[in-house]
Amino acid sequence: MTQGLGSGNLPIRVCTVGSGPSAFYAVEALLKASGLDVRVDMFERLPTPFGLVRGGVAPDHQKIKSVSKVYDKIAEDPRFRFFGNVRIGKDLTIEQLERSYHAIVWAIGCESDNRLGVPGEDLAGVCSATEFVGWYNGHPDFRDRTFDLQRSRRVAVVGNGNVAMDCSRILLQSADRLADTDIADHALATLRQSSVTEVVLLGRRGPAQAAFSPKEIEEIAELPDVDVAVSAEDAHVDEHSAKWLETQARSAQRSVKFLQECAARGPQDRKKRLTCRFLVAPVAFEGDGGRVRAITLQHAALDLDKDGTPRARPIDRFTTLEVDLVLKAVGYRGVPLPGLAFDDRRGIIANLDGRVLDRVGGAARRGHYVVGWAKRGPTGLVGTNSPDSKATVEQLLQDVRAATTLAPTVEGGAEKALRAANLDFVTWQDWQRLDAHERAQGQDRGKVRHKEPDVAALLQAVRALRK
Ligand code: NAP
Repeated sequence: MTQGLGSGNLPIRVCTVGSGPSAFYAVEALLKASGLDVRVDMFERLPTPFGLVRGGVAPDHQKIKSVSKVYDKIAEDPRFRFFGNVRIGKDLTIEQLERSYHAIVWAIGCESDNRLGVPGEDLAGVCSATEFVGWYNGHPDFRDRTFDLQRSRRVAVVGNGNVAMDCSRILLQSADRLADTDIADHALATLRQSSVTEVVLLGRRGPAQAAFSPKEIEEIAELPDVDVAVSAEDAHVDEHSAKWLETQARSAQRSVKFLQECAARGPQDRKKRLTCRFLVAPVAFEGDGGRVRAITLQHAALDLDKDGTPRARPIDRFTTLEVDLVLKAVGYRGVPLPGLAFDDRRGIIANLDGRVLDRVGGAARRGHYVVGWAKRGPTGLVGTNSPDSKATVEQLLQDVRAATTLAPTVEGGAEKALRAANLDFVTWQDWQRLDAHERAQGQDRGKVRHKEPDVAALLQAVRALRK
């Protein structure tokens, strides 16, 4: 082990890139490492922390968002520092980080989304759920997006994971129910004008393989004036799936039971409806004047793959679904970062159990680690990141013990470089003031928080609050 590394004379200096749940759980694991003096700096490209907790979790799920209180506690440790408004690759290079830290933990999530790769996907009105979610959450990257809800009666959501559920719930519930949340003002104004009465959820596999959690669909059914409609054909569980379902988590069985109850009960006379369709996938989007008008759906049957998992096999049956808007919720995808090996097939940073590799299947790259969605792909709930980040930190600490981390040459180099470049980074104290300001502004408007979606305006507020 490097002489004294981790002792009071020579603290282990680590940085995270990203400030979402996986980054905070990594910080927590690092600061808890027993007998070691660890200092952690966190870099975040936005002026605000918390990643998907702020910009992804739906505004009507404030209980999930309240996990940020746990992160506040972690950030109280004097060995932790936050550097918001700093983009790695632009404001600081990877080489600068390597000269300043023993280890770099990449926690950059999956910032893009999967494409379907079918004709018409670029028509106006065919949008990604990533954009829609970022837009209603006031994420600066998506504040300029527009969704023509006023002229839309039927919206199709492709995919049936929990992101699809979030989008469906936001579209179907009354805007009044969202008014006291931290939803972006622009989104609330648009939702107030919405004409949407039906969301059609399109699952490419059967009801037994629906990716949503049962409580998410039950929550939609509990919304006032919203029906969850499933035809008997769509609720049917084929023989393969019935057997397979017995081997699955109880949650999958609960979802099927719920869907079959909806089918047995038949459609209810409600103002709005979530229609669940299964074994269908878009093969083309049809347009009219450059705007989506319909989807050609190809039906499917299920076959078992060699692992015994039911997979969709397209069959020779097609139908057309007229739609006014489409949201694709078919999974997030990582964005390659120059200088870091990317696993293009999986859409993540190339890694083995959290150690970043020099190329896919290659050797571990000294001093680089990855956590969260950038490590394992876009799966799991917020809490999934806690054990996942701990596991990566365990690898990092093993490398500290084996003296195979980086050997930084410049103490405080990253901060010095930011100051030399006159970059106005956001400290944790700045964020705490902004947090209090957002809450106060929200209170004036009868909301839990008012989020300014423009980075320049956020920075202006940060500066004003320093005075
Ligand atoms: P997901 O759970 O992986 O769901 C993706 C959906 O897209 C699946 O239904 C998948 O079908 C479908 N799909 C993928 N490629 C497709 C294609 N080419 N054509 C048609 N359908 C396709 O992903 P997600 O909804 O983006 O959620 C990401 C993670 O965040 C999940 O772990 C989720 O639970 C979590 N999350 C949780 C909450 C919450 O707890 N409230 C909210 C949001 C997100 P197949 O199953 O057939 O692949």
